[in-house]
Amino acid sequence: MFAVKNCSEQESVTGTSSMSLNLNKSRKVALPWIGKGYIKLLARSLVNLGIDVHLPPPTTDKTIRLGVRNTAEMACFPLKPTLGNFIEALDNGADTLLMYDSQGLCRLRHYGKIHEFTLKSLGYEFEMFNVNFSNVLPICRKLGGASYAKIIRELIRYYNRLKKMDEAKEKWSTSKPNIGIIGEIFTCCDERINYGIESKISKLGAKPVNTVTLSSFIKNSFLKKIHFPSPRRRYKKKVEVYFNGGLGGHAKENISHLLELVDKKIDGVLHLLPMSCMPETTIEPFVTAICRDNDTPLLRIPIDENTAEANLETRLETFIELIKMRVKQ
Ligand code: SF4
Repeated sequence: MFAVKNCSEQESVTGTSSMSLNLNKSRKVALPWIGKGYIKLLARSLVNLGIDVHLPPPTTDKTIRLGVRNTAEMACFPLKPTLGNFIEALDNGADTLLMYDSQGLCRLRHYGKIHEFTLKSLGYEFEMFNVNFSNVLPICRKLGGASYAKIIRELIRYYNRLKKMDEAKEKWSTSKPNIGIIGEIFTCCDERINYGIESKISKLGAKPVNTVTLSSFIKNSFLKKIHFPSPRRRYKKKVEVYFNGGLGGHAKENISHLLELVDKKIDGVLHLLPMSCMPETTIEPFVTAICRDNDTPLLRIPIDENTAEANLETRLETFIELIKMRVKQ
């Protein structure tokens, strides 16, 4: 197992090479990509807290190859690009890594530990922080030195900006066919991993309605102890019939979002999932049945390191053309 060195140019949070707001110069902090817009926004907030953020270079084929080479073949796909991101960040001088800890039931909870173990086995020296709801404040304070009050204010500002960004993603069109997107968050949100599927849908003349957004993920996992009043509660209640307890990932949210989409007469549904994703493969039969029973066209696209963009494009193009014909009829 070897990591390739000499990674490409450092991605700048601020758009320039200097980060004048950085106060804590002793640590170079990196985190993996999950959608460029999302991570740049988060990096901006971390910089505001005095944290010296060194984002890895954007995910490329090389990043994915690095992750694939150093993980178990059957590991769920997001583990691989995120490991590749960390390798490239460490090669670029990062010495502190942040990984999101869902504290949920799925493998994501253990990604940080697997990354840490693998990277240390590869000979890298660094400190790893698995960030969750309970430890986010002390970690931010340790890395940037800001007061708790400032950290809370900045995190709230970040979440509000994120929600604003996501409103456009979830909006329906009144003039074009609407394509609802459900699935696993990494494949639904990272434009390198899904080959910019939302822009492809838009270019094909339809409106992507992405129900899997980082703000809803944070609300459902990070802020799960806080009960928000929501008009979607009735869909959340309906999902329980499909499950025998917790499943993890976005399984329940996806069924709940799907029930809402078909209820509101979405024109088509796109189910995006990483190959071998446990919760998404578990809910596959339910997703198929709900779409069939509601006469809603469904396209399922599993994604991994072997996915070919041309193949994805052909399937998407055919799917949207069929939907357009149905809408016209
Ligand atoms: S939701 Fe799927 S891809 Fe994400 S950690 Fe769980 S199994 Fe892996």
